[in-house]
Amino acid sequence: MPQPAYVIDRLISAKTIAARIETLAQEIEAEFAGTEKLVVVGLLRGSFIFIADLVRELSLPVEVDFVEASSYGNAMQSGREVRILKDLQGDMAGRDVLVVEDIVDTGHTLAHVLDLLRARRPARLKTIALLDKPSRRETDISADWIGFDCPDAFVVGYGIDYAQRNRALPYIGTVRFTAS
Ligand code: 5GP
Repeated sequence: MPQPAYVIDRLISAKTIAARIETLAQEIEAEFAGTEKLVVVGLLRGSFIFIADLVRELSLPVEVDFVEASSYGNAMQSGREVRILKDLQGDMAGRDVLVVEDIVDTGHTLAHVLDLLRARRPARLKTIALLDKPSRRETDISADWIGFDCPDAFVVGYGIDYAQRNRALPYIGTVRFTAS
């Protein structure tokens, strides 16, 4: 199906993202100081660039794992029913785990993944989200670390897509539809 015409307005620059990740990495290092090996769990697919940049800023030993969840709904609206498309590979029991999400919107995805992880009995479970849309929340979930508060707009770039496009943009932008 042809996509409607749109432009992307820059919201957060690559430089601003990099600076924020440096600060977040320091806070995470302080929180997990002494951890033998932190398991950093990325939520596919939107977090793949964020997790890559974040782990390279951490001077802790890390293991990386991924889980893929999908919520029913169309491309611009996240839904309530969350399904696990790809489960973790590793055993989380007794481990220190950091879950990395791209955007917390309604919060249903993160809540579902955290339930899944808690059932695996990690020693510690923390969460980080690059973007937070608190005005859209339908759950009482909030990430332990947040990169940036985000307006109630549809964003793309830095790993985040619109219909599988725009993931490779180095910055985060908002999608604005143009009359065709
Ligand atoms: P939630 O379950 O919190 O409502 O939705 C979280 C997921 O919805 C995110 O991981 C992301 O995949 C998707 N999402 C929420 N807001 C946006 C957005 O502005 N742009 C894109 N591309 N995806 C979004």
